[in-house]
Amino acid sequence: MIWPAMTASRITVLAGGVGGARFLQGLVDVVAPESVTVIGNVGDDVELYGLHVSPDLDTVLYTLTGWHDEARGWGVRGDTARALERAARLGAEAWFRLGDLDLGLHLARAERLGRGESLSAATAALGHALGLRLRLLPATDDRLRTMLTTPAGELDFQTYYVRRRHADPVSAIRFDGAEEARPAPGVLEAIAEADLVAVAPSNPFISIAPILAVPGMREAVAARRERVVAVSPIVAGAALRGPAAAMLRSLGHPVSPVAVARLLADVAGCLVVDRADAALAGDVEAADVRAAVTDTVMRDGRARRALARAVLTAGGLPA
Ligand code: GDP
Ligand code: CA
Repeated sequence: MIWPAMTASRITVLAGGVGGARFLQGLVDVVAPESVTVIGNVGDDVELYGLHVSPDLDTVLYTLTGWHDEARGWGVRGDTARALERAARLGAEAWFRLGDLDLGLHLARAERLGRGESLSAATAALGHALGLRLRLLPATDDRLRTMLTTPAGELDFQTYYVRRRHADPVSAIRFDGAEEARPAPGVLEAIAEADLVAVAPSNPFISIAPILAVPGMREAVAARRERVVAVSPIVAGAALRGPAAAMLRSLGHPVSPVAVARLLADVAGCLVVDRADAALAGDVEAADVRAAVTDTVMRDGRARRALARAVLTAGGLPA
């Protein structure tokens, strides 16, 4: 692989799970992975079976090390589920599925957290062991949990998303613990020192907002606004997966990159929107966010790399 001469540029990416990880796959094909720092969402984290589950960090970890189950969208490719099947037979609720190999990672993380390691230290160790070349940092080592208000009451993230299959309309979102949380070590530096801060095409409400909810984060990213390029997860009036479109609707926004621009206007100077939404570029710019129009649907490696290059260009870096 040939990397352009710009490998010395430092790139920091705010990312959720699958949308974030796909974007990162393209990015590490066009820049040196060692120049990339990912700030990952922990709002989806949950304690289950006595284990700390970190779905978005693990999606990035598995995707970038080749273990992700692309077809299913979660967990480890080719994994079996014997442990959870046994647990279910023994009366465990077992609605959150962790495959056998995935459980192995959770045991390794539990061992580290149990001897007092921080989530960021445990994440670094697991990433190193799996051969992860970019730097993956949780937004915070502290407990921060996305909570969603629905007609069924206030639900924790995984109850809403996995157990109830994100079928409940969401009328409000809050991040429990955010006020007391501190950015994990290295996070603020990675934002301050980056040549480019990218906001992956991740759900703005439940992937990006919980990262920005850590005190100091929104200000830190806003201070770099002219170097911040976001990618719209909304294309042609829909989300490519997950509840982003439904959330925009139920929270009173149009299902459009214009809404994404308004939501991110304080932190992002530029929004990459899909060619299908080219006609909306003027409305994005009316929200005081520069619009860059390109193909943003990451259907294959070539499309992922092209999107990564478009983000580098939009951020003023050679691509
Ligand atoms: P999650 O944590 O696994 O739900 O994933 P993210 O929050 O990182 O990403 C979910 C968002 O990614 C959804 O809103 C999708 O619309 C968006 N997304 C997924 N694939 C693509 C793609 O190829 N292009 C764009 N522009 N957005 C995408
Ligand atoms: Ca997620």
